[in-house]
Formats: sequence, C-alpha cells, structure tokens
Amino acid sequence: MAYITLDKKHFFNNLDIIAKLSYGKDKIALVLKDNAYGHGLREMAQMAQEYGITKAVVRLQEEAEIVADFFDYILVLADIPEDANEKIRYTINDLANIEKFPKGTKVEIKVNTGMNRNGIEMDELREAFEAIKKHGLQLEAVFTHHSCADEDACVFEQQNKNFAKIKEDARVLQKEFGMEKLRFHSCNSAALFQTKHFSEDMARVGIAAYGCMELPQSQEVQQLQSVLSVYAKKISTRHLHEGDCVGYGASYKADKSCIVGNYDFGYGDGFLRICSNQYVTPQGIKLLGRISMDNSSFLSDDRELLIFDDAREIAKAAQTISYEVLTSLKANLKRVVLE
Ligand SMILES: *Cc1c(COP(=O)(O)O)cnc(C)c1O
Repeated sequence: MAYITLDKKHFFNNLDIIAKLSYGKDKIALVLKDNAYGHGLREMAQMAQEYGITKAVVRLQEEAEIVADFFDYILVLADIPEDANEKIRYTINDLANIEKFPKGTKVEIKVNTGMNRNGIEMDELREAFEAIKKHGLQLEAVFTHHSCADEDACVFEQQNKNFAKIKEDARVLQKEFGMEKLRFHSCNSAALFQTKHFSEDMARVGIAAYGCMELPQSQEVQQLQSVLSVYAKKISTRHLHEGDCVGYGASYKADKSCIVGNYDFGYGDGFLRICSNQYVTPQGIKLLGRISMDNSSFLSDDRELLIFDDAREIAKAAQTISYEVLTSLKANLKRVVLE
C-alpha cells in the first residue's frame, strides 16, 4: 500500500530554526491538530518529545489524551471536557461557553482581535474574568490568532496593537481578581517569522515545523525542509498503443505507444482529484488521466513511485494550500520515520 515517510532530520532542522526565532525550544507549542497536519499524531508527538518540545496544541480532547504522555502542557483549541485535567488547558472561544466547563478546569481566553472567527470580543474581557471566577475555573493565559500574518502587513499590525491593549487590560484584571500571573501568546508560524524580537510566552507553530510554509519570503523560511513524503506502489503495468485512453472519462489519450503503471494512491487516500491530468512528480513523471479512488496512473514502470516530497508542489497543481494537501492524507496510510 502507499505509505508516508517522515524525515526526522528535516523536522529537527525546522525546530532548530523555529527555536532560534522564539528564543528557546521551551517557547515552542507544536500544533498537532488534525493528525499533526496529516503527518501522524503519535509519530510527530514522539519525535517532538525526543527533540525536547514540552508543549503541544490540539483541537480535541481525544487528541490531547493520545499525546498526554509526551508533553507537560497541552492546549485544546475547541472542546469542552467532562473533568478537569492537570496537564490539559482548554480554550474559551465564547462567553456563553464558560459555564459549561467543569469546576477547576485550567482555561485560556481566546480574544478576537480582528479575525472574527472564534474568541470573545475585546470589550468582553471583564465579563469573561467574572464568569471564570464565578464558575471556579483557573485562568492561565490570554491569547489571540492572526488572520493575515502572511498576507497583509496592515491587518497584522492592527491585530498586534489590539492584542497589546488586551494584555494591558488583562494584567489589570488579573490583579483585581486576585489571579495568578497570566501568560500571553499570539503567534502562528507566519506571525513568528514576521516578528523581529519575539517576547511572548510561547508561539503556536504548525506549518513551519512541517516545513511547508509559503510565506513570508525570508531566508529562514527558505531553510525549512519538508518533513513528509508520499510513496505509492505499482499494482499493474500496461502497454498502451497510440490512441489508447487511460482511466475514467477516457480523459488521457496516448499520442504514441508507451508503458503505463497504475499505482495505489487515489483520492480515497488523500490525492486531491483536481490534480488529475496535470500533475508531474518531483522526478518528472507525468500523471495520466483522472485520479481514481484507490489508483492513479503514471508514465512509469517503476515498482515504487515518489508521489511528492513537498506538499507545496501538490498545492500548486491543485490551486490550494499545503495545509489542505497534508490534512487530506488518510490516517490509515502507514507512517515510516526516517532517522
Ligand atoms: C492551526 C493554528 C495554529 C498554527 O498555525 P500555522 O499557520 O500552521 O503555524 C496556531 N494557532 C491556532 C489557534 C491555530 O488554530
């Protein structure tokens, strides 16, 4: 069956670069949501631990439980637990949800500074503190998320300004409510790579660690190395004559006789079907016809084929982003760690 390789050296190289920008590996919170961006949750958690990463960010309680033994701190972005947990922190995305968390839960407030997706409004901070106190939750941090760190410098600046104000307000409220000192964080990968002198308590880094960041253009970004590759195995070989067609819809027609291999990686495995008829592998091998559920045909007779070693290449062919390419990869594909 098609399989995935994970290059540990590349991953560690990326973490070295990120740790330099964040001034220490203890400031990195590795984002492992969605099966670690398709890389494999357990595999990436284990490698991160080996490198010395102590913090992780996931979406769900279920993911947090799977990686609980690998980290000291885990932030859950969008889930509400049944019981409080020593290691796991939960995000408050909305004032109305505060009462749903069990007493004693460690929580972090997400504040909307301009993305207008999740998070309480900037002027709801006091109300959030009141509700947290009333329900006996333990507030540890206040954070925000950037919408345009890689695209629009003005919006990025404005969100930074808004968050600076939130920090001031939160420090005042923390004293007033007699709470412990709060932590603050706002950077995703793009924001961290745009920030000159990083000074927050941690950065939530996903795509940069996986080596598939597109922007911002900088020397550091260019030194990142893609961690994940996909290989497919040949199921059958066929000799085509001029005029023979390949696959559903007969959309590829051979203009001369050739050998075509059919490989076991299709859209059911996460090969975006829009790449049909228009993708060329890193070794220059052409994809022929439409991608099927479990198969795709290439102008190759090799027993095994490298489909891609950098999700950005597929993203280009599919007019999407590396995040979608990676998270489309199914969890049942075998992951092999290359030492
Ligand atoms: C996914 C996510 C991140 C990581 O973003 P990258 O661009 O992959 O670094 C950080 N913070 C939050 C809240 C996220 O949802």
